[in-house]
Amino acid sequence: MNLPDHKTKIVCTIGPASSSEEMLRELIFAGMNVARINFSHGSFEDHSKVIRLIKKLCDELNVVVSVMADLPGPKIRVGEIKDSPINLQKGDKVKLTTERIVGSKDLIPVDFDKLPYCIAKKSNVYFNDGFIQMRCSGICSNEAECEVIVGGQLSSHKGVNLPGIDLLLDPVTEKDLEILDFALEEGVNCFSVSFIEQGSDIQKIRDHAAKKGRSVFLVAKIERGPSVENIDDIMDATDALMIARGDLGVEIPIEEVPIVQKELIHKANLRGIPVITATHMLESMTDNVRPTRAEATDVANAILDGTDAIMLSGETAVGKYPLEAVHTMVRIAKKTEAWRDSTGSGMGNIRDAIGETEMGISDVISLQVYDAIRKLSIEFVVTPTYSGATPRRISRFKPENWIIAMSHLDLTCEQLAYSYGVYPLSVYDGSDDLEKKVLGALLSRGIGKSGDTIVLTQGYSGGTNLLKIIEIEHLVE
Ligand code: PGA
Ligand code: MN
Repeated sequence: MNLPDHKTKIVCTIGPASSSEEMLRELIFAGMNVARINFSHGSFEDHSKVIRLIKKLCDELNVVVSVMADLPGPKIRVGEIKDSPINLQKGDKVKLTTERIVGSKDLIPVDFDKLPYCIAKKSNVYFNDGFIQMRCSGICSNEAECEVIVGGQLSSHKGVNLPGIDLLLDPVTEKDLEILDFALEEGVNCFSVSFIEQGSDIQKIRDHAAKKGRSVFLVAKIERGPSVENIDDIMDATDALMIARGDLGVEIPIEEVPIVQKELIHKANLRGIPVITATHMLESMTDNVRPTRAEATDVANAILDGTDAIMLSGETAVGKYPLEAVHTMVRIAKKTEAWRDSTGSGMGNIRDAIGETEMGISDVISLQVYDAIRKLSIEFVVTPTYSGATPRRISRFKPENWIIAMSHLDLTCEQLAYSYGVYPLSVYDGSDDLEKKVLGALLSRGIGKSGDTIVLTQGYSGGTNLLKIIEIEHLVE
């Protein structure tokens, strides 16, 4: 078995362009680590089929691919519009209504009952990922009068953003809980949670799953101003972050997005929380076989910022070239990582920054693993793990060597699909003769050979507290 030649993890959104068994198999071969199911679209029946197919393929191909169910949260949308799309022009006067009517160019339904209470004169309202802008000029019962500032084509069900406005909405909706229940029944363990504002929003999902006796891996989607402000509180509650640049780029000034991306990635790296950079990464590949130069550079820069994973949305869900989009990401990742490894660029400050933080025993061990890799000629790091904490801590240095994480818990293996450079193997069963067992498991998979030097972490009572540097030969006669 060959380990992949890139270490950045790849998240693919599954949709009509990628939900067949053949395409899913191809995507796995190409490098998909996480299959994201967007519950904003499609039926439960369709999603159930995809979830089952992925589980079947994982068994058949003996690989770990995580299914991540995306809970849509309180996304505000335009309702039904007659003769959609309509063409809005600068200066047009339109009314937004909370009535469930079939709308027109003059009266546009929006599925948000509290609109008249939240919006104020001069508030900006954005549609369709921010491409259309209106400004409120007055409020009258359940209508908001607006003037079009930036026009464009508006179709039914497009998203609506009201940046900087307190929406008086619970980020966790009844619908989210219904989806959560359904997906848990289908055996899904990982969830991305949209529009959260604070740690307690994540905790609500965790508590709901716990009531069903389930432990879940939660990805907090950072896509509103308050979630950026409350990032420390959110990081206390979440297992992973997603920088959801689509909504974020409308909810906060667009010029702040690159800096927020860098700061959030750095913060997540410091804590060993995996982070996904999402949206518009290879957007033009939805229709074209090659990306723009700016997109290729964006993927590389996210990797150099220290992202664990990069995500495809429409490119794989509805695009013409889903497979090519994954191949393109993989090629960029391979080149960028090799450059970082050979020059030591990009992650230079992370070791120093981690050194400044409060450290526990396993933090110290992870730091020493990293130093060992840099100073010695090491082939692999092998981390038998219960919770995944040790490989995640080592992963934050984005080391040049693979971290082989062995766990007898399938859930732990699945969660490690999100961490840079971690290869999960579900083998280690906690037996006494650890070294022999670990090396046997590696060699039987064709990973490693006699003469290789490896770093092995171990822990006997609770956390990881031991680091060993061993040569494979000695143990496998
Ligand atoms: P979405 O989330 O695709 O569910 O909107 C990602 C984003 O907003 O970037
Ligand atoms: Mn979003």
